[in-house]
Amino acid sequence: MKEKAVLASSNRHKLEEFRAILRDWEIVFASEAGFTDDVEETGATFAENAELKARAVCKALGVPAIADDSGLCVEALGGAPGVYSARYSGGGDKENRTLLLKNMADVEERRACFVSAIAFVFPDGKIIRAEGRTYGEILREERGEHGFGYDCLFWSDDLKKSFGEATEEEKNSVSHRGRALRALEAQL
Ligand code: IMP
Repeated sequence: MKEKAVLASSNRHKLEEFRAILRDWEIVFASEAGFTDDVEETGATFAENAELKARAVCKALGVPAIADDSGLCVEALGGAPGVYSARYSGGGDKENRTLLLKNMADVEERRACFVSAIAFVFPDGKIIRAEGRTYGEILREERGEHGFGYDCLFWSDDLKKSFGEATEEEKNSVSHRGRALRALEAQL
């Protein structure tokens, strides 16, 4: 029987990515296991935020908890939106993409990377950490319909297409979260 772990997220795309790679675990949303609080992401780094979320959920539910904190870091913007990726514009994904394109309207140098930090916390206090990155460039307009967040603005060096144009499998094979998850799996 698979061991159960809860995921401190409400993002269905993330849940599918976690399930696809951590096949030995039965992963459910923390909310389905009864945790409905909003954990404030007060950390200065992706790793700190992932740990904050996983610890809060593990403590509340008493079961192994996984959290990831991720975001987009654009070189020309000094690493922004970074840990503020989800809250960049104050609106949703669409508004965040619009603001990013606006802030990069006159920017020629468009290198960027997605970062994912994962923390897996166990009731005995043990913690396993992993991080993954994927590199590419910010497009000048949206390409593709797949994925979420900034996917359709991110040209992947590895795939030679945007994440919005990639299938879920293709994206998982090179994505920041895919890489972090495989690094996590190797430590489990
Ligand atoms: P988190 O849920 O706090 O980790 O926030 C992550 C935010 O970063 C999301 O809301 C997206 O805007 C962005 N992001 C993280 N991973 C991805 C991805 O795989 N594709 C597109 N956007 C992402």
